[in-house]
Amino acid sequence: MQKRRLIVIGGVAAGMSAASKARRLDPDLDIVVFERGEYVSYGACGLPYYIGGLTESKERLIARTPREFEKMGIKVFTSHEVIDVNFEEKTVKARNVKNNGILTKSYDSLVIATGAEPIIVPFPGVDLENVLTLSTIPDADKIKEIASNDDIKDVVLIGGGYINLELIDAMTLLGKNVRIIERMDTLLNKFDNEFGEMVKKESEKHGVSVHTGESLEEIIGNNKVEKIKTDKGEYPADLVIMALGIRPNTGFIKDSGIEMLKNGAIVVDKKGRTSIPDVYSAGDCATIYHKIKKENVYIPLGTNANKQGKIVGSVIGGEDINFSGILGTAVLKLLDMTFGMTGLTEKEAKNLSIDYGTITVDAPNHAGTYPGMKKITIKLVYENNTHKILGAQLAGEDGVAKRVDVLALAIDRGMTTEELGMVDFSYSPPYATPWDAVAIAANAVK
Ligand code: FAD
Repeated sequence: MQKRRLIVIGGVAAGMSAASKARRLDPDLDIVVFERGEYVSYGACGLPYYIGGLTESKERLIARTPREFEKMGIKVFTSHEVIDVNFEEKTVKARNVKNNGILTKSYDSLVIATGAEPIIVPFPGVDLENVLTLSTIPDADKIKEIASNDDIKDVVLIGGGYINLELIDAMTLLGKNVRIIERMDTLLNKFDNEFGEMVKKESEKHGVSVHTGESLEEIIGNNKVEKIKTDKGEYPADLVIMALGIRPNTGFIKDSGIEMLKNGAIVVDKKGRTSIPDVYSAGDCATIYHKIKKENVYIPLGTNANKQGKIVGSVIGGEDINFSGILGTAVLKLLDMTFGMTGLTEKEAKNLSIDYGTITVDAPNHAGTYPGMKKITIKLVYENNTHKILGAQLAGEDGVAKRVDVLALAIDRGMTTEELGMVDFSYSPPYATPWDAVAIAANAVK
């Protein structure tokens, strides 16, 4: 009897999680992965640290090679871009990007895990040399190679989201003059504005030129970029990195009738099923269920991609399992500070017309009697009548990452501020105060 075949399109976090889980649950499944790039199963999250020289080689970013997957019984076709899917005949057509050869294979189950790609806005000069985006290992190699040249002094980052903020760290480490341009009034717009202001202050403290409320108009140069022009001025630029958001890689099936959001994200249910039978999707090309908003949203994160991929692999492997959803929990290192968020921001609570309250405290990371005490700013968003916690944002030099996860768990479990304020947290002077920073924030809500 012919084996059932699973085809996975896209071989990074979501795709390889799905393939590996399905393999473990169903040893008889024929599993084929198509990946248009040269690498599979790597952590894009580590790219800024590779560029900055903190991660010494790109090999360290790769969890498993195609050869290792072959040993697990997963056939990986790298440099193969899927150009068409026939959902009625259940076939996938892939083009070998090296020799243009076409390979067509049929599937019983299909996982679309094609991720997302940077949005390129067609500013004049966007095609000049040394104007780049960061998404893949080859992108990082190129940025690293260019930045390693001592003649490259002025680095301009266009867009003030996570990726460029992580690049502030990398470029500062490499000794560059760093400038960041953001059209909105604050950086890190996923957070409430006061956190964006802290990002600005921290960046400026380290010599970064921050331009908020300023729009790029033109990139200028003769073959290579030399300067950029905004609506407020002109600035020298040897290297420009554009990070203006990302778009799901779903163009190759846009006319298939598969249900998508306006931005092209494939709509999935709690099992990762799309609107087409036997077709699943996961990761940055798909929607994800938000536990507080109680709706499908687009939050492209590695954490989400890994979990969604695992759920899809489990379902294809025969398990009756549902994904309960996410909170949008994220953490970011910026120079000496860490920023974390989970659940709703105040902006989001307001947009959703929730009857909410907020509290912001500055609490110590650990006891003042122990050297190195720093403050952590914690902002909680909670439901007014019940005090159920809906969201948290944190910033500080130490101890933020631990606390954002505690708050994520509290929100995930539907806790009120009163319940969280009396949890039995650990205490010893190097790590906390008798009332931990999280409890101090929760107990400040009256
Ligand atoms: P991807 O990793 O994008 O993989 C999709 C793959 O599909 C790609 O390799 C692509 O080549 C392939 N593909 C696309 N179309 C086709 C096709 N037609 N045929 C064949 N193959 C195709 N997330 C966090 O949670 N924390 C972080 O700290 C963090 N930092 C990040 C830093 C950077 C610089 C970047 C770029 C991302 C970061 N992320 C972070 C996001 C995280 O990397 C992504 O959410 C995650 O990689 C998504 O995994 P994925 O498998 O859905 O998609």
